Amino acid sequence: MNQNEELNRILSGIESLLVHQKELEVPIFISDSEESDSGSSFDTSVIDEKLNQVKEEFVDAKSLTELDIMICNCHKCELGSTRKNFVFGVGNHSAEIVFVGEAPGADEDAQGEPFVGRAGKLLNELLKEIGLKREEVFICNILKCRPPNNRDPLPHEVDKCEPYLLKQLSLLKPKIIVALGRIAGNTLLKTSETLTNLRKENYDYYGIPLVITFHPAAILRNPHWKTPTLEDLKKAKLYLEEVTN
Ligand code: SF4
Repeated sequence: MNQNEELNRILSGIESLLVHQKELEVPIFISDSEESDSGSSFDTSVIDEKLNQVKEEFVDAKSLTELDIMICNCHKCELGSTRKNFVFGVGNHSAEIVFVGEAPGADEDAQGEPFVGRAGKLLNELLKEIGLKREEVFICNILKCRPPNNRDPLPHEVDKCEPYLLKQLSLLKPKIIVALGRIAGNTLLKTSETLTNLRKENYDYYGIPLVITFHPAAILRNPHWKTPTLEDLKKAKLYLEEVTN
């Protein structure tokens, strides 16, 4: 086979794969990060490279439990002084899907667990509707401590705290991330898009496929957003099934 024939064979293979994905309505993930060069791959090599630049002890944690112990007394930003509880995250330490919110709210701060209270109950219901249980997934936030009065995370707080999320993802090795809410999506992608625009595309976060949808608290304020949220979650689940099988 000459060089041209070989090239045509590869292009034809890629075309068939894209057609197959479209037929199944499986989302095709695009890389939106200059630092990510792994396309639709869900390996954590890009995250690990980023973590190599962080000169802190927690980077050496061998498990999520060990990481939690190493960072739970963090005071790297002022939220360490105003929190009631550090909120590490909960769920399956081998989860294939990770849900990420922006920061703990009042209920989460009080209980030390993310997505509890009414919003947490709704998240559990949404998971059930796509055939998942809370115990099967991992749920966490970008910030591990509550910003006073639930204000948006400040850039310097994200700079300090985001490496913890990277380490969590490096240990979890999920196949897909679902960001809950505009702030979480924009914070992860370093953009300032509307949620409407964020939902139009599939992204990757340091090489891990990323879907962005409504925050459950937003659905509590506007129940009409439940249907599009379920569409996004089904899309993520379909992708998960496709890459798992
Ligand atoms: S928000 Fe993050 S960086 Fe700030 S004190 Fe809490 S754990 Fe540390």
